[in-house]
Amino acid sequence: MSKMSHSHRDELYVGPYRLEKTLGKGQTGLVKLGVHCVTGRRVAIKIVNREKLSESVLMKVEREIAIMKLIEHPHVLGLYDVYENKKYLYLVLEHVSGGELFDYLVKKGRLTPKEARRFFRQIISALDFCHSHNICHRDLKPENLLLDEKNNIRVADFGMASLQVEGSMLETSCGSPHYACPEVIRGEKYDGRKADVWSCGVILYALLVGALPFDDDNLRQLLEKVKKGVFHIPHFVPPDCQNLLRGMVEVDPDKRLTLEEVMKHAWVVAESQGHIELELPIGQIVQTSIVPTVEDLDADVLSTMNSLQCFKDKDKLVAELLGRNRSTKKKN
Ligand code: AMP
Repeated sequence: MSKMSHSHRDELYVGPYRLEKTLGKGQTGLVKLGVHCVTGRRVAIKIVNREKLSESVLMKVEREIAIMKLIEHPHVLGLYDVYENKKYLYLVLEHVSGGELFDYLVKKGRLTPKEARRFFRQIISALDFCHSHNICHRDLKPENLLLDEKNNIRVADFGMASLQVEGSMLETSCGSPHYACPEVIRGEKYDGRKADVWSCGVILYALLVGALPFDDDNLRQLLEKVKKGVFHIPHFVPPDCQNLLRGMVEVDPDKRLTLEEVMKHAWVVAESQGHIELELPIGQIVQTSIVPTVEDLDADVLSTMNSLQCFKDKDKLVAELLGRNRSTKKKN
């Protein structure tokens, strides 16, 4: 992380970016417009007051930074840089001007199936990319989906996201109750990928119907409704899309559609030559070398791995990185 350069005259700068108007306010603090003093590039700067936030929220921010640094995808909000001083963290984010999908939906009431499908494809393409990097979002909802000037989706707010290695299960209960799946609400161990599929199904329902499949003013009643998983789909939703919704918003995680199945579903691929456009293929990154000495270990990398909860026992990890605990087969 770079240090923050301070104000000259009355203007406040974060690195080369001049701080301008406030764009919004989130759980972790203000988001301001930043303008690059040489290129004029506009960015959004999330200002996090370290002193005012609890340890757990700060950990959330650290995790958000670590995860966003890992992901680069056209439909995931980009994190360009992070500046810090003693009091604040400044996240320099890609600036998007279209606001939240939530507000867009409220303004329109509900979307046509065609428009809903366009948004939905962009969301699942971003999600597929995250999942292929073992990252689950865990807080997908229209408030966390931002729009650019061309009405393209940017998935934002990875504060709840988690690294989930294939075959393992997650435990922490997260997400808004309207979008959270029954196994998360019941506090059981769950597969974050399946939890994301449920949330995406609820989002698709909201886009098409302009209402939520499960809703109640009373939180307990709402949780009961989600656990039962009984919901009504209005007649104006096309039949093949109803079938997709039922497959995604399915109480039994074993019966729920996988993201792979969602991406091949007839309603999703309609009018797209049989498959939805996928982003660049993801290369496999394989570490082949062993770190020679403790001094060669990068403290920043270890700290990021800690934020991502990649390991439980630091000493064991260090021993493995130094090659002491592994039976490595040397390649010639
Ligand atoms: P957050 O703290 O991420 O929930 O952001 C709070 C609000 O700031 C959002 O609801 C948006 O209105 C605004 N905002 C956040 N990030 C951006 C961005 N990258 N570009 C434009 N506005 C943003």
